[in-house]
Amino acid sequence: MKKLLIKDAFLIATMDDNKTKYANGCVLIEDNVISYVGSTLPKNININDCEIISAKNCVVLPGFINTHHHFYQTLTRVLKNTQDKKLFDWLLYLYNIWAKILNPDTVVFSTKIACLELLLTGCTSSVDMFYVFPKNQPANLLDYEIETAKEVGLRFFPCRGAMSRGRSKGGLPPDEVVQTEDEILKDYERVVKKYHDNSKFSMTQIILAPCSPFSVTEELLKQTVDYAKKNKLLCHTHLAETKDEEIFCIDKHCMRPLEYLESCGWLEQFCFFAHSIYLTDEEIKKLALAKSGVSHCPTSNLRLGSGIMKLRTMLDNNVNVSLAVDGSASNDSSNMLLELRQCLLVHKYFTGPDSISAEDVFWIATRGGAKVLNRDDIGCIKPGNAADIVMFRIDKIGYTGAMDDPLAALLYCGDTQIADTVIVNGKVLVHEGHFVNFDEQKIFNEYLEKYKNIIY
Ligand SMILES: [Zn+2]
Repeated sequence: MKKLLIKDAFLIATMDDNKTKYANGCVLIEDNVISYVGSTLPKNININDCEIISAKNCVVLPGFINTHHHFYQTLTRVLKNTQDKKLFDWLLYLYNIWAKILNPDTVVFSTKIACLELLLTGCTSSVDMFYVFPKNQPANLLDYEIETAKEVGLRFFPCRGAMSRGRSKGGLPPDEVVQTEDEILKDYERVVKKYHDNSKFSMTQIILAPCSPFSVTEELLKQTVDYAKKNKLLCHTHLAETKDEEIFCIDKHCMRPLEYLESCGWLEQFCFFAHSIYLTDEEIKKLALAKSGVSHCPTSNLRLGSGIMKLRTMLDNNVNVSLAVDGSASNDSSNMLLELRQCLLVHKYFTGPDSISAEDVFWIATRGGAKVLNRDDIGCIKPGNAADIVMFRIDKIGYTGAMDDPLAALLYCGDTQIADTVIVNGKVLVHEGHFVNFDEQKIFNEYLEKYKNIIY
């Protein structure tokens, strides 16, 4: 058995039920599982049997859980023509570009970049929704993404995304990127069979994800929850992201977005929704009652001018809220620690400085994510949980003067969000701020050589 001992931590924030913290703490990992956490060394341990990681001057946390992303957008970050557009115009411009550039090579490369950026900024588990399947490409593009995430080592929740309502059926996307319900259902079955692992400490769990009310048919929404229910899978979609979507739903279905999804059978514990900005207080209560989850994406919502989710109201009503960076064409970064900071600051403005604390945000980004993904083995440093752990150095200029609250300092201060060490499922993937298995410069050079001018 491989033993890894993290010792001398400046602070360990376990995010357990009591939010226990240890000064000068240590964590013992045996293979892929945490077997001990405390402020003294575990008893009966022979240090010579362990690989030691010094956490001196580090804050140690459970790895963050990102519950909404579109990795494939990484090669279309900050396009000049998208910087000043709102969601529907942004999408109308990008659908055609994505249809043109997506192929096995670009899916592999963009997935690699997104996963590595997530890792480097403290994220150890991520959802990704892949939903653009161009007709002239192999139908199994999602497989390339899953294999790449596996190679990087991230704990992965790939969504078999889907669009079935093209322009000819009154939807927003062009017909060339939508599929039939039949094709989609068959592929749900294929990827679930090939990749879905329901066991404890699972590294790959498939989620079913018809993209949004304005890009899928009512039929597909209903068929998806039916299939998920039978096969014990999670469902995910975009919901109430913009006023335009609300107008679309009222216009086409005479219902508000949440009402529409409810009519399709989606108000369930196994369903979770990205954004969820345009919800009334009554609708928030409905989400809470159904125990459905939410992926909050503050940066993307600000970037597209979409709005601000009512986080405080959701927390007061015990809605299961998690945090997410969203796709890289609307963030335009996969920086998870920065997303926590964004969340903290925007809600201090939105509902008042006493309405949200740094610890609330850490909770949402760890335990909140685990709850939404129906996992009780991640999001918390405690014996028996998967060894997904991140360490941030605080002995830097950016944190100097902030030791009254070193945990909060990670969000309030700092000049970088780069983790010192990142461990996923017991494997050290980032060490001293660098990837153990990947060369950052080489990857950037590959981008310059092959993909820099890809949209032209
Ligand atoms: Zn999204």
